[in-house]
Amino acid sequence: ISRSHPSQSEDVQSLWQKDRDHFIHPFTDFSLFHEQGCDLITDSDGIYVEDAYGHRYIDGIAGLWCVNVGHGRGEIGQAMADQATRMAYFSTFNNLSNAPAAELAAKLAELAPAHLNHVFYSCGGSAANDATIRLVHYYFNRVGKPHKKRILSRNNAYHGTTYLAASLTGIKSNNWDFDTLDHLVTHLSEANLYRRPEDMSEADYCDSLVSELEETIERIGADNIAAFIAEPIMGAGGVLVAPDGYHARMQAVCRANDILYIADEVVTGFGRLGHFFASEAVFDTQPDIINVAKGLSSGYAPLGATLISDELYEVLSTPQGPGGVLSTGFTYSGHPVSCAAALKNIEIIEREGICDNVRETGPYLERRLKTLAHHETVGDIRGSHFMLCIENVADKTSKALLPVEARVGDRVAFEAQQRGLIIRPVGHLNIVSPPLIWDRDVVDRVVDILDESLAATSQTLKDDGYL
Ligand code: PMP
Repeated sequence: ISRSHPSQSEDVQSLWQKDRDHFIHPFTDFSLFHEQGCDLITDSDGIYVEDAYGHRYIDGIAGLWCVNVGHGRGEIGQAMADQATRMAYFSTFNNLSNAPAAELAAKLAELAPAHLNHVFYSCGGSAANDATIRLVHYYFNRVGKPHKKRILSRNNAYHGTTYLAASLTGIKSNNWDFDTLDHLVTHLSEANLYRRPEDMSEADYCDSLVSELEETIERIGADNIAAFIAEPIMGAGGVLVAPDGYHARMQAVCRANDILYIADEVVTGFGRLGHFFASEAVFDTQPDIINVAKGLSSGYAPLGATLISDELYEVLSTPQGPGGVLSTGFTYSGHPVSCAAALKNIEIIEREGICDNVRETGPYLERRLKTLAHHETVGDIRGSHFMLCIENVADKTSKALLPVEARVGDRVAFEAQQRGLIIRPVGHLNIVSPPLIWDRDVVDRVVDILDESLAATSQTLKDDGYL
């Protein structure tokens, strides 16, 4: 893509102004926003995005861990346009349906672990998690266990920002000055191998996390707990990979206590770890429910889905008697244009062997990224396949953090952007979660840029007296 933008600079300035004056952005630091406003991203193609001034960047975050098949896929656009022209929207309430929603539900049932054959649609990840908890409560009410209401989540988990999803979320700073539904949620410790107690082996650490779950169930009572929800790899909370066997053991404890196991695969689904679903293929778990969004449509249209086990579906679908209906769902549940986008997206993932690419290129990306560990501020480089993270610290030995005002994550991201790469700052972390079509050449370019960016960051931290 090469366009000449400079002549548009007046339009760009006007857009920038409109945005700054009227658009309340999600997750915005207003101390920067009032001053700097936003960068307008206007164009995209494959692994690249371009801003309004024509600067081109490698997209290192797949939009927001979602553009799995890469940008500018005309065939997804065409599938959406065809569907919008033929029948853009009609209700899916009251025994009405549409072709893409039906096709996609069947396709998801085919791709998902064998016991998950039923799909409840929503518009994104938060809504999928929110709807799930309502369905779980409904399920236990219907089987005569109305006290089973509490949901176990984990510190630093990210499950979204609807009221209930925000309450499941365990990243404390996300909920500063917001209220949460604390009577419904209990947070356990996250699995953080990098910051586990000193001198504790990985196996002992795993034992301690499983024991914490058992003790929590003992304390609250299994009769009061409905479900445990977990991301297979914790994403926004720091790309935390749990110790070997953790998820399967947590699930076994849940099973033994009649507690449902919900896998939030909003990020890990649709190829990011080399499989359509990571739960069974990577982590050897058989969740009762898997939630997906993001990569489901590669972000080309808003869509979320809750995949429900046959066992749960049997209860949810048992008629309540005359006039009793399962009264939940959204105007846009099974939106035909979003479902058409998802079907084409899945076709591309399968046709181009994108999961194979992640299994092939992912370990190379991990290996190459880890060569950056020598940088002064790099405490840890972790993650798996196309879901990776750099943890920046002030001191490698003590693992002490730099002061928040040093904005180390922002600094690294800024240096990278100056050099043509967008990565995501989250506090003192930098997340790399690219489109799943990077090859080894792109990985090499990215690692070179990060190498320079980390060196430049150390220098500016020194110049500003933080190191
Ligand atoms: N769950 C996880 C694991 C996520 O990472 C996210 C979004 N980053 C969500 C849920 C929420 O999804 P959405 O923003 O589409 O509501």
